[in-house]
Parts: sequence; C-alpha cells; structure tokens
Amino acid sequence: MSSLGEHIDQMIEKKVEDSGSGAGALIAAIRLLNKGVVRWALRVLTKEVEFNGERKPLMEWVLAKYAGETQCPTVTHFVAPFFEMGMKLATAWLHADEEPIKQLLSDPAIRRGIVTTLRGIALFGVTTPQKLPAPFFIVWNFTNACNLKCMHCYQNAGKPLPNELTLEEKLRVVKELDEAGVPAIALSGGEPTVHRDFWPVLAEINRRGFYSAIATNGTTFANLEFAERAKKLGLRYVEISIDAADPNVHDKFRGVPGAWAKAVQGLKKCR
Ligand code: SF4
Repeated sequence: MSSLGEHIDQMIEKKVEDSGSGAGALIAAIRLLNKGVVRWALRVLTKEVEFNGERKPLMEWVLAKYAGETQCPTVTHFVAPFFEMGMKLATAWLHADEEPIKQLLSDPAIRRGIVTTLRGIALFGVTTPQKLPAPFFIVWNFTNACNLKCMHCYQNAGKPLPNELTLEEKLRVVKELDEAGVPAIALSGGEPTVHRDFWPVLAEINRRGFYSAIATNGTTFANLEFAERAKKLGLRYVEISIDAADPNVHDKFRGVPGAWAKAVQGLKKCR
C-alpha cells in the first residue's frame, strides 16, 4: 500500500474511533468499498453492456431499471432483483423511503455520476480526492463565433475559427463523452447559441441523458421562443453574465449598444 493509502487508512481508523454510530457506519461502508473483493465486484458491475446501439456499464442499466425504466438489456433482469432486494433491506434498516431514491435515480445524469464514481473506486480504490475514470463536468468551447465584442474576451471571439469541428464531429464528441461516463456538459464559446449546430448538439446531449448547461451572453435568450425551445430540448442550467447594474457600463464593456437590455431580458425569459 502506498504511504498516501496508509495515511488514509489511519485517518479512517481514527475517524471510526472518534465518531458516533452514524458517521462510524458511513466510514465503515467507505472502508468496505476499498476491500479487494468489493472492488472486484464493482469491476464486474461496471463492465459495459450494449443495448439498442448504446454502451453503458451494467450498473447504469440496473439503476435505470430500479428507477422504473423498462428498456434494458437481458442481463439486467438477472442482476436487478438482487440490487432491488439490497435497496429494500438498506432502506428498511435506515428507516428510509425508497421512492425519493427512485425519483433521484430517474435522472440519467445522476445515475451516470454514481456509476462513474463506482468505476473510480473499482479502478483506483477509495482515494482523497476520489480519482475518476472520467470528469464529472466538461466545459466545451463550442465555437469562436460571437455576436458581442467584449474588451475582456479571453477567447478573442468574433468569427468561427476555420478549423472548428463539423456537426458530425461534434456529435461524435458527444457520443464519446457519453461512453466515457461524463455526466454533465456545459456549452461555452464564443457564444454557443449563435452557431447553427447549437440546436442539433443540444438535442443530442439531452437525448443521451447528460445534465446540460450553457454559459451565454444571454442576448439570444431575450427571445421567449428561443428560451422555450431550449427548455423543451432539455437545457437545465443557464449562466448569463451581467457586468454592471448600469446598462452603459455593461454595453461599453461588451462593445455593442443594447447588450445589457437583451441580457436582462434573457435572464427574465429564462426565469
Ligand atoms: S460574449 Fe463571451 S465570447 Fe462573446 S466576446 Fe464577450 S466574452 Fe467573448
């Protein structure tokens, strides 16, 4: 065991001694996850299984079935009953209700986050911070195109770059991030919403169950139809920058008159 591993083990041991029964049980559970046989079981449960052209770890299918999804590969039907029984016993022991857990797991991004963490434990053991096989969150500078001319722009955005990805390549990136186990994607730029590929890529991100977010200057969201279309496609988080309460300061900074008014409208329409 590495010295860091020893240090963590000693720290956990001390915490178990110091803690009350609740924290002690949690720490004992974390220690249990670090056992070789548990990590071996996690490796088996996080092996990829293909179904309807989608490759996901077995555990992700099991969690989806537990949450009520019916379209799952055959092997899920053998493993899921054991998981369901385990959850029943665990929730009974903790006097907890299963329904809120099922509700939580009905979100594919949460399922993916859990499975990516379990894959990290299977591969690397329990580490501080936890090593993962894929990042939880990707910020994707989607295009260099932008409809503003901010004096502080770190991307020097304006026109799209000549070597930006084609739509086909972008969709392949989404597929690869999905297969890698990334739970959340934020589109940034430039201004991602002014690019023609924004809609098909957003649709694909949400079809694949990512948590989708966007960093935008907000001007395109001033149009209610735009905001509604984005919401309908599954966009879950919008971040709009306002540089000042005074419109003139914001517009001067942003290089385009009326930028403040549109950004504030964008905020309101998103609300
Ligand atoms: S809105 Fe963002 S991407 Fe566009 S110019 Fe300003 S800082 Fe750059």
